[in-house]
Order: sequence, then C-alpha cells, then structure tokens
Amino acid sequence: MIIQTASHMGLCFGVQDAVDMAIASAKEGKLHILGPLAHNPVIQDRLHQAGIQFIDRPDQADEGTILITAHGMPESVRKQARETGLALKDATCPLVHFAHRHLAQLVDQGYFPVIIGRHNHIEVQGLTRDLASCSVVLEISDIDSIPRVPRIGIVAQTTQPMDRVQHLVDAIRARYPESEVVFKDTVCQPTKRRQLAAVKLASTSDVVVVIGGSKSNNTRQLTASIARIQPRVHQIERADELQAQWFGPHDTVGITAGTSTPSETIQAVMQKLQGWEHPGNLIRTSSVHQAHVSR
Ligand code: SF4
Repeated sequence: MIIQTASHMGLCFGVQDAVDMAIASAKEGKLHILGPLAHNPVIQDRLHQAGIQFIDRPDQADEGTILITAHGMPESVRKQARETGLALKDATCPLVHFAHRHLAQLVDQGYFPVIIGRHNHIEVQGLTRDLASCSVVLEISDIDSIPRVPRIGIVAQTTQPMDRVQHLVDAIRARYPESEVVFKDTVCQPTKRRQLAAVKLASTSDVVVVIGGSKSNNTRQLTASIARIQPRVHQIERADELQAQWFGPHDTVGITAGTSTPSETIQAVMQKLQGWEHPGNLIRTSSVHQAHVSR
C-alpha cells in the first residue's frame, strides 16, 4: 500500500488564527464565541476544554469578551455585540472581509446582489442578513429566484468550489441575457489550492480519505469533487472511523483534509493506516502545479 498526501490540505490560516486568538483570549478571562468557530468536532472540543462558551446571540453573553469567528458577522450583529458593553474581538478572516467589501461595492453601484453559497451557512448569513433583498444560489434551480433586474452582481461563499461557481455564473448570464451581470471572484485561495490538489490526488489514487467535520462545507466540497473522479472516497472526522475493508493491499491511498481539520487529526489517520500495513508502507507526497490558481 502506498499512502500519498495532497500537496495542499488541512487547516487554513484564517481558522488557525481564530483558534489561536480564542485560546489566548480565554486565558485572560471569560470568553464567548458567537457561533461555531470551526465546523470540526476536534477543534470545538479543544475550545470547550479551554472553558470557552458558545453563544448564538450577543445578548446571551453575561461578562468577559465576545469573539467573532473567521466566518464573519453582519454589521447589525456587531452593533448588538458592541451594545452589550463587553469587550469585542474580531477574528474574521481577511478573505471573508474581502467578500463583504466586494458585495457592499456591488450593492452601492446598484447591482442586485446574488450570493453563490449555502443559504444557512454562517458566512453566507453574515453576508446577506443586512441586505434589503438578495438571492442565494447553490443549484441551477435556485437561479429562478433572481428577479428580472437590469444589473446583477455576484459574489461567492469563500469555500465554494470554483467549477460550481463558474457553472452557476454562466447559467445566470444565459438565463438573464438582458441584464448586466458582474461576477467578483471571492472564493479564497486556500480553498482553490485544496480543491486543485484534491482533484490531482483523486486522479492518482485508488481510494481517497477526506478528513474533516461532517458539517464542514469545504470538506464536503472536497469529497464531492473527488467522487466525480474516484468513487472510492470516504469522508471521516477521526482516525477511529477508518475501516480496513475500504483498502486493498496494493492500493495507493490518497489523504486530504478540509480547511478546519487540525494536523493532529491528519497525523492520527496516517499513523493508523501505517499500522495496518507495516513494515512495507511507503509514504510519498503528491504535488499539484499552482500556476493557474488565481485570487
Ligand atoms: S476557508 Fe478561506 S476564507 Fe475561510 S477562514 Fe479559511 S482562508 Fe479564510
């Protein structure tokens, strides 16, 4: 058995910075995190163990500090958080700020806002909640919700796969030929890199293991992209979910992980796989050319 890892995988800088800020803040006093910081049970467990409390609304915090996660928040919720009088820390990823800025510019310029993403995801809620009107589009059938307007401005949830985003943008242009359609690419670079590396991995592996939270959007997107190339793909949260019958003795096993998966979880999966096929296991690292990745 050969085990190979994707050239880009695992925790992104945005989630890592937010975790670091939360752990450091919790050492200084009581900390409330607004919404889930990461859609990963290992990270959530670690934050709970640090004594951090999770809240859904700012008015649920009684003392200490409120932290906004990497996913960002609408301005109306930030205002509510300030009105509590408690300290406020902001771990919003700069690439989520980038999406907020572009969306605001499109609205200011008179474009009807369309967000390509998952309607109930915390990041999409942050982008849309303060808008007077908008459409959130994830499937082709959702495009009908866009009104017939002269100008349509599109941004994307940062963790959507580029092929899905481009497909939907093309479909919107085809469906509303009379409208001026502008698309701002707000899919983040770490997502693009992980997607490209996952596709490369899938094309050179007999079976692929994707490590990440079952509620993690970017992990599910990695699994979906791989499944289109390699149907033998399994998504797990922890090493103890690995099943020996998934693997054959001569398989090349690909490993990748979502942007909220900590390195210790990846290491635990690798160690368990190595333990099954010792001592002849060979570990090598695949590589993916990044030349055509753009912001
Ligand atoms: S997935 Fe992208 S946008 Fe989200 S926190 Fe990570 S780097 Fe930032």
